[in-house]
Amino acid sequence: MKIAVATSGGDSAGMNAVVRAVVRSGILKGCEMWVVREGYEGLVRGNSQAVQNEGDLINVAAQSAAMDGAAIMKDADHVPDQNLTHNLRFGDGELLKDGTAESVGGRTLKGRYIVRVGWDDVRGWYSQGGTLIGTARSASFRAREGRLAAAHNLVKEGINALIVCGGDGSLTGADIFRSEWPSLIQELRDEGTISEEQLQSHTHLRLCGLVGSIDNDMSLTDLTIGAPTAVHRISEAIDNINSTAYSHSRAFIVEVMGRDCGWLAILAGVAGGADFIFIPERPPKVNPWEDDLCAEIKKHRALGKRKTIIIVAEGAQDLDLKPIRAEYIKDVLTERLGLDTRVTTLGHTQRGGPPCAMDRILPTLQGVEAVEAILESKPGTPTYMIGIQENKITRVPLMQAVEATRNVARLIKSKDFDNALAARGSDFLGYYEAFGSVSSLFDESSKLPLELRMRIGIIHTGAPAGGMNTATRAIARYCIRQGHIPLAIHNGFRGLLDGNVNELNWLSVDAWSPRGGSELGTNRCLPSMDIGAVAAQFQAYDFHGLVIIGGFEGFQSLLQLEQGRKHYPAFHIPMTHLPATISNNVPMTEYSLGSDTSLNTLVTACDAIKQSASASRDRVFVIETQGGRCGYIATMGALATGATLVYTPEDGISLDMLRQDVKFLRTRYAFDVKGKREGRIIIRNEASSDIYSTPVLTKMFEEEGGHLFDARSASLGHTLQGGVPSPMDRVHAVRLSIKCMQFLEVHHRESVAQGHKRNNADGDTAAVITIQSSSLKWVPVQEVYRHADMKNRRGNDTWWAGIKKLAENLGAKPQFLGLH
Ligand code: ATP
Repeated sequence: MKIAVATSGGDSAGMNAVVRAVVRSGILKGCEMWVVREGYEGLVRGNSQAVQNEGDLINVAAQSAAMDGAAIMKDADHVPDQNLTHNLRFGDGELLKDGTAESVGGRTLKGRYIVRVGWDDVRGWYSQGGTLIGTARSASFRAREGRLAAAHNLVKEGINALIVCGGDGSLTGADIFRSEWPSLIQELRDEGTISEEQLQSHTHLRLCGLVGSIDNDMSLTDLTIGAPTAVHRISEAIDNINSTAYSHSRAFIVEVMGRDCGWLAILAGVAGGADFIFIPERPPKVNPWEDDLCAEIKKHRALGKRKTIIIVAEGAQDLDLKPIRAEYIKDVLTERLGLDTRVTTLGHTQRGGPPCAMDRILPTLQGVEAVEAILESKPGTPTYMIGIQENKITRVPLMQAVEATRNVARLIKSKDFDNALAARGSDFLGYYEAFGSVSSLFDESSKLPLELRMRIGIIHTGAPAGGMNTATRAIARYCIRQGHIPLAIHNGFRGLLDGNVNELNWLSVDAWSPRGGSELGTNRCLPSMDIGAVAAQFQAYDFHGLVIIGGFEGFQSLLQLEQGRKHYPAFHIPMTHLPATISNNVPMTEYSLGSDTSLNTLVTACDAIKQSASASRDRVFVIETQGGRCGYIATMGALATGATLVYTPEDGISLDMLRQDVKFLRTRYAFDVKGKREGRIIIRNEASSDIYSTPVLTKMFEEEGGHLFDARSASLGHTLQGGVPSPMDRVHAVRLSIKCMQFLEVHHRESVAQGHKRNNADGDTAAVITIQSSSLKWVPVQEVYRHADMKNRRGNDTWWAGIKKLAENLGAKPQFLGLH
């Protein structure tokens, strides 16, 4: 099958990762892969006759590349998959990267919009922002005449399947194109433009859509491609603005994208620790909202707050659908409160920059699924849109998703805001409510009755992880809103024994959201160091509930406290563990705070290392990651950075494995064009093997690479634990913290109803908050224990095992070894 892939509408980070994944997985399935440059416009323009000859030049290039391979085949240890070596190079990545450049190396793409590509043409694309094959808004494709030309151009090249990555407009266009296809090609036949044979071999166009949009405005998918990166860009900007706002005691109004959807504004607000947000789906409830806003800011300032950050989505509006503009808010604050107020419009900076880890991993998984959907497509099957729901890659009928999206716009227009908000899904609503809980100063009326108010202990354990401080800030703010007392325990359980406990207040945690590390201080001490003394301190501080934020030690601590209930009444209080560890090794949860931050750190470091490796052309870098005896970070990192090989503790390293890997690398390098060899990276988790350490592996590759490649190593070490927490870790931190607090409240209420006996807390009241298939589940710590591999400090279930195979497939290891 011949499959073409196009990017259309506004560009978004992650589109290149889609193209790379589609091209590579298509080739692995034996398909011929093409790209369409400049979106639908390229489809309409096609390849002009005159340039078709020049196109032959590209085929010549392909042949010469194949000949290069053949010539140096003697260097290869064996003959790899013929289909793959034939498909290594066609358009030449360099040529495509130059987009509209008229001529590169004597060849040209001018006038050629539909270009065949090979495996190596898309090498390294996942790390680049925007779309390397270009995108455009095409007026001509909106007309049937344009689509007729597009159909002809596809038939001319023998292409019978199309994968489009774009927004709802692009996907609608795609669906129209597919439904019209039979009549389009019949018309082409009737007018004699195509032959009967061409008609017969193109009766059905297989089509599949992926959503590339920074607004995250598409229904029936939890995330659109590019939206997570846009949140990164906005958060970086807000973090920068925060310090200057604080210095000058200013107010800043930050305008972010989102004409119809407030997702970016909400997530940026939660991650950036903003004070107010204005979004299209939920206009301010109080009218006039200006009074309410000024009253709240006055309260903040009276407390001593020096800065005010307000985020406004482009499409923000009031209850009468009157737009709320950043400049207007500025005037309100300046005139009514005399605040030095500035407006920052982030504009197109939100679209740019390198894709974050999530915008490399998800588009890759979705691109692979799109090819599967194309291969399974039959004339009767609907056009699918590939999305993600509950952490699973999904296929949904494309027009159903577009229709649901348009319905939200209709609900907003008809001022049915409650239903508009509900139609955005529970995640959206959850983030919105989370923002409200941690940003506003509430008065007495928001507090719980006295008997339900608690003294909450908050403790960090284990190594630091991104999001620990954000979570603590959220817990403290939620506590204050509800009338609880948030008690920070400094320096873990050792600090508790030393009486290092103090009450947090609303303002003292204000700036904690973007801070890395652990503001409370953390260490690996467990309650078992002196469980009796720990119980005495629980009693002395009269804790009614405890939140433990940390990694495997957090889970162990909760387990010991729960087991301690047999002897110590002070532990008969609701207690919870919020997993926070870069290793993501807490059993039964797919996500821990800090794992996204460390993945992003890894991706940034690997991009830089790979650049250095590529500059030296034929260098292999062995990169060592942390992660303890859990291969999560190494595996996901490999997928996000296009690592050629990955070593994990779960699979270990054996001599046989290394022999194969050397063979693979030698063969792979033998097939690179001479003088254009690329750097490659290998990721090795620190605990993959005691014997085959990173230096041993590096020396071995260096020796075995001979004249084909050399090897160097780099250890990322503790860099993965530190730095600024990623926005995704921050928003999860806020949301999960609030859920933890609600868990404590529910069980405290039950305990109060039973007269505070302090001797009958059941196992359910000591639980770990877990994410399983994107759903939040409370698991009693004893059950977590049953799923734990205590010796290796990880869960028994390695849910990401399949991802390792995929990462290796996209590096073509099995194909080059003839193992597939
Ligand atoms: P973004 O979310 O960034 O705006 P989009 O895909 O929604 O992306 P649009 O400009 O709406 O962007 O659509 C991109 C292209 O898709 C259009 O320029 C047009 O070529 C095609 N298209 C959109 N709607 C239709 C339609 N109803 N019929 C045919 N083609 C369409």
